[in-house]
Amino acid sequence: MSVFPSDYWQARDRFRQAAQSLACVLETHPIKALGPQDQSLSMDVARYGSKSPQITLILSSGLHGVEGYCGSAIQVATLTELLPNLTLPKGVAVLLIHALNPYGFAWNRRCNEDNIDLNRNFLLPGQAFAGSPDAYAQLDAFLNPRQPPNPRDSYLLKLLGYTVRYGVSSLKQTLPVGQYDFPQGIFFGGQAPAQTQRILATQLPNWLAQTQQVLHLDLHTGLGRWTAPTFLVKPQADQKDLPWFQQTFTAEGLQILGQQGATYVCQGDIGPWCQALMSDCDYRFATVEFGTYPLLPVLKAIRAENQAHWWDQPTSSTYQWAKSLLLEANAPSRLAWRQIVVTQGVALVHQALEGLNGSSHT
Ligand SMILES: [Zn+2]
Repeated sequence: MSVFPSDYWQARDRFRQAAQSLACVLETHPIKALGPQDQSLSMDVARYGSKSPQITLILSSGLHGVEGYCGSAIQVATLTELLPNLTLPKGVAVLLIHALNPYGFAWNRRCNEDNIDLNRNFLLPGQAFAGSPDAYAQLDAFLNPRQPPNPRDSYLLKLLGYTVRYGVSSLKQTLPVGQYDFPQGIFFGGQAPAQTQRILATQLPNWLAQTQQVLHLDLHTGLGRWTAPTFLVKPQADQKDLPWFQQTFTAEGLQILGQQGATYVCQGDIGPWCQALMSDCDYRFATVEFGTYPLLPVLKAIRAENQAHWWDQPTSSTYQWAKSLLLEANAPSRLAWRQIVVTQGVALVHQALEGLNGSSHT
């Protein structure tokens, strides 16, 4: 059986079954959302290992909905193939958070039930749910056309025109950064904390009650070279995280980028928010991306799916086209891609556990 799920519900069933077989503590946190069908959605959490851990490895998936196919597969493989064959040291636990954004996972969207890009929603104290990069308003008509998606749309030509007019760096600082003024637009950060954030604000301190040291890997897809993992490290104040990540992880094509090397800096990122919430912990965080297609086709898919969601009928061929475009951009159908990312993902989880063990504080 491949661990790669065919849909959210199969992914969730497999995750729950794998967690139960390993005698994990399993929790279900419902997410309320009106979907195309009346089916239950939830964030599911499995805790394995020490009941009052000093060291916790967190593996989370599906913050960007449709990116959850890959993250879920790595989580299930961790539960079925890696953990049963390891003995965790005393005081160590693994916390697996399945589908941070179950709505987006279930309906093949990047954003959540309120069109929120969750990795723009986790604002720090003092930041406001308001404002947008200057060029977003000018680009709104291009980014978010108020019409059904069109497979023959001259997207690349238009993007080239904007690149000439505004410059590459201006577009890089505009497109993925996040905006708080266009609720039907892509990269919308919301106007209040989303359900996912509210659940984490309550639960994370419970899950990590005794923990002094955390390593949190948040699994994503769509950035970087085909199958290759990229770590986007959010350093804590002491800046010691980046060298630690570089020493701990190796993989074919692996890139580890700090804040400076990252392609863009956005606010509302879940990592710094978790670090701020759990400020008494040594909380290392990395967004772990597995590369699929180049950036422009991925952006094209995000844009087309958003058009379909707002301006098309689910029964139309253009709607189906846009949905399958976004799915393929984040969970490529090629078997080789799926096998490599799951194998690499589990190997990285293994290295994470070894690294945590070797660096435990004395
Ligand atoms: Zn993502």
